[in-house]
Amino acid sequence: MENILAELKNILPIVGLLISSYVVVLWVAALIWTYRDIHSRTEDILIQVLSVAIVFVLNFAGLIVYLILRPRETLIQKYERELEETYMRRDIEDEHVCPTCQRGIQPDFILCPYCQTSLRRACGGCERVVDLTWQVCPYCATPAGGGSSRTSQPIYRQQEEVLVR
Ligand SMILES: [Zn+2]
Ligand SMILES: [Zn+2]
Repeated sequence: MENILAELKNILPIVGLLISSYVVVLWVAALIWTYRDIHSRTEDILIQVLSVAIVFVLNFAGLIVYLILRPRETLIQKYERELEETYMRRDIEDEHVCPTCQRGIQPDFILCPYCQTSLRRACGGCERVVDLTWQVCPYCATPAGGGSSRTSQPIYRQQEEVLVR
């Protein structure tokens, strides 16, 4: 019995040393990981120092606190998101640009105010803005080519004349 106790007294310091060195290795690894992680998430030196300090002081509890409080996105993720948002915004704005000079216009413009390209035309019947390619006004059914007379009726008249002859 005394022999076993004596042996335990010899072994205990070694076990203690192994456990404490294991903890120290994990602690250092946690510090290195925190240092790398916070560098990928912010360029603010104060936040970087605070993050590493909280893990240094509180150890694993500090690591948990850091994981809860750290910036949600890495700098690369943030950059990609901002890039995406810029593209989306440009797509929306692109819907109303002059096809000739690429400058911003309002959807109801009939003429580009910068380069005077014809964009749309005003309907001869109801004066609403309609597309240049439409054959008929979708609001009042006036055929393309203006009011009630210019291009449509002469065609009918010619056809009638042909039929009469
Ligand atoms: Zn233009
Ligand atoms: Zn019309």
